[in-house]
This record gives sequence, structure tokens and C-alpha cells, in this order.
Amino acid sequence: MNYRHSYHAGNFADVVKHVLQCVALDYLQQKDKPFFLLDTHAGVGMYDLLGEQAQKTLEAEHGVARLLGRDDLPAAVQRYVNMVRSHNPANELRWYPGSPWFSASHLRANDQLTLCELHPQDAQELGENVREFPAARQIKVQASNGYGAIKALLPPPQKRGMVLIDPPFEQRDEFEQVVRALREGVKRWANGIYAVWYPIKDPLTVGDFHQKVKAIAGVDKLFAVDILIRQAQDTSKLNGCGMLFINPPFGLTQQADAIMAYLTPILAQDRGAEYQAIWL
Ligand code: SAM
Repeated sequence: MNYRHSYHAGNFADVVKHVLQCVALDYLQQKDKPFFLLDTHAGVGMYDLLGEQAQKTLEAEHGVARLLGRDDLPAAVQRYVNMVRSHNPANELRWYPGSPWFSASHLRANDQLTLCELHPQDAQELGENVREFPAARQIKVQASNGYGAIKALLPPPQKRGMVLIDPPFEQRDEFEQVVRALREGVKRWANGIYAVWYPIKDPLTVGDFHQKVKAIAGVDKLFAVDILIRQAQDTSKLNGCGMLFINPPFGLTQQADAIMAYLTPILAQDRGAEYQAIWL
């Protein structure tokens, strides 16, 4: 396990993932009934952008930093930016929250969140960070394989909620592992919301992944949001990313197009940048 998210925190992919994650969480909050959240690949929860690893890549400069000076943010993006700002002194960007923090900040009194992180050092750091999170007592941290948690924890007693699957994709068969995990998840909990983040190097491979998820028994509602930040000429590079939603909340499908139309030119690295937000 070589992947460390601290090299990439706050980059364009985090922006897209966390904005859409927050929109989905906002809609879960609209009903009073408690919800359950599972983050299968949680990371450490909070990142120091002045730390050695983030400073090596400076990826946040082409991600979240491009949003901070803007005065034309759509409401959903504004809420996300406000959350990032709440960790930083005015006009500074040092701390970037991860997906566990965005989930934690949406928990109400009876909602629950389970975080899985397999890297022992990252799991320990996550546990320490979670103590400072909102609703910390409603959060469980497991130093374990997140795919295993899908089998162990679903369906949750709350019967509503979301599973976020955000693997590092450092293994060749990670897409297959995700498809297997979704099959297990949907078999156990057909009504849950599943949100999967994936990298786009060669856009052609993404269609294959979408079709495999679509073929899973019990998957009826499937929505994909993809962005290319540059023309994908060099397919060894991270040219974009996507989020695939099974059972997407209504508000997410309503807002995704406008959000991506706003974000794509800002996150673009050349004129080949484009997005799609579509039902599959
Ligand atoms: N979701 C985080 C966020 O948005 O802030 C970032 C997660 S990062 C892309 C992927 C994380 O998954 C890494 O911290 C890695 O150590 C961890 N990981 C890798 N394989 C795992 C597995 N099978 N189960 C749980 N965690 C895993």
C-alpha cells in the first residue's frame, strides 16, 4: 500500500468528489429519519497542505485554491467552500478536510458514520482526528478493509443512508473489486445510495466500468458524473475523474449539470476539458 492521500488532498478530484458528496448529504438531511453512512476508504480525515507531501505536488493549487477567490459560486459549491474555509484563517489555505469530515459535519443527533481505513498509520491518524470532529461520539473508526465492511455492516438498521467508496486504484483489478463490492452491497441493501469515485486516464475504460455496474442485479437507478480536466492524449496521466451513483438523491441529479458546468472551466488545464452528468 503505497498510496497516501496527503499528496493529493484538495486537488481537482477532491473538489468534484467532496462537492457532490455534500450535495448528496444535504438531501439525506431533508428527511427526519436517521441515516447511516459508511466511508470504505476514509483516509486520515484532515490534511495539512503545508506538509511535506502536499508541498511536493502542490495539487491543491489546481483544485480547491482555484475556488477560494471567486464571488460567483453556486450555492452548493459555496457551502463546500465555506466548510473548507472554516478550518483556515481568512485568506489562507492550510488545512483541507477529507470525506470523513464532510460526512461528520452532516450528522444529526441520531445519525451514524463508520469509517474504514486499511493503512495502519493512516487509521491511527484518522482516529486521532475524529476526536476533534463534529458528532465524534456517533463515529466509529475501523482499521480494516472497507470492502469487508460492506458485507459486515449492510443493511444498516436505519435502512437509509449512503456508502462512499473511494479507493486509491493502485491495484490493477480495483475496478473489478469495486464491481464485486457493489454487487455484495446491492444484494444486501438495494435501497442504499452508493457513491463511487474513480480516476479517468483513458476515457474508453470508463464506459466498460459503467456497463459492468449497470449489469448488477438490482441496480436500476445509475447516474454518472465525469470530468476531464484536459484532453486525454496521454492516457498514463490522471486526465479526469468521475463519481458513479446508484440510487442518487433527487437533488443531486437535479443540480449536477449546473455544478459541473461551473466547475469544469475553473478546474480545466487545457481546452479539452469537458464533463457529463448523465443517467445510464
Ligand atoms: N476518501 C478520502 C477523502 O476523500 O478524503 C480519501 C481516500 S484515499 C483516495 C484512499 C484511502 O484508502 C487511502 O488512505 C488508503 O490507505 C485506503 N485504503 C486502501 N485500500 C483500502 C481498503 N481495502 N480498505 C480501506 N482502506 C483502504
